[in-house]
Amino acid sequence: DPRIHGIKTRIRVVPDFPKPGIMFQDITTLLLDPKAFKDTVDLFVERYKGKDISVVAGIEARGFIFGPPIALAIGAKFVPLRKPRKLPGKVISEEYVLEYGTDCLEMHVGAVDPGDRALVVDDLIATGGTLCAAMKLLERVGAEVVECACVIELPDLKGRERLNGKPLYILVESH
Ligand code: 5GP
Repeated sequence: DPRIHGIKTRIRVVPDFPKPGIMFQDITTLLLDPKAFKDTVDLFVERYKGKDISVVAGIEARGFIFGPPIALAIGAKFVPLRKPRKLPGKVISEEYVLEYGTDCLEMHVGAVDPGDRALVVDDLIATGGTLCAAMKLLERVGAEVVECACVIELPDLKGRERLNGKPLYILVESH
């Protein structure tokens, strides 16, 4: 798709952020280009329209940028999956392991129902730990995760292998 190239060129790579040795993929520069931002959302909408997705689950923080326009366009509800102690209602939590220590995602109880068909959205998959925790939250309440969708994959980190065979759709690979 010719739109992919434009999207790729709008992602800025920032060396040594947030610490030495990390090549940070910065999607804020993509958002500055309305055509590239719209193309990004459109590519996901074209893939998921008519697939009977009932919930788009967006991962804090950058899943909150791409998830809602996709949800609105395909007629699904949007559910934020947040870092600990941000959601005010009753939550369920899923811990996951990072390079150093652990992190956690939370979801409001009652936001997702048994039988919901879910799409999980984030900006980027690295090791896959974040998407894996997100899928567990959704599956614990009886939803079916149809697919995970990210703008960028870092394939060298093999995060795809942590998704237990669940399909992952990405627009751009970065090495
Ligand atoms: P994982 O759990 O797959 O190792 O890491 C993915 C999570 O970390 C995503 O929520 C993503 O937003 C964030 N992340 C890790 N590295 C980068 C990066 O280089 N750029 C951006 N934008 N996010 C990153």
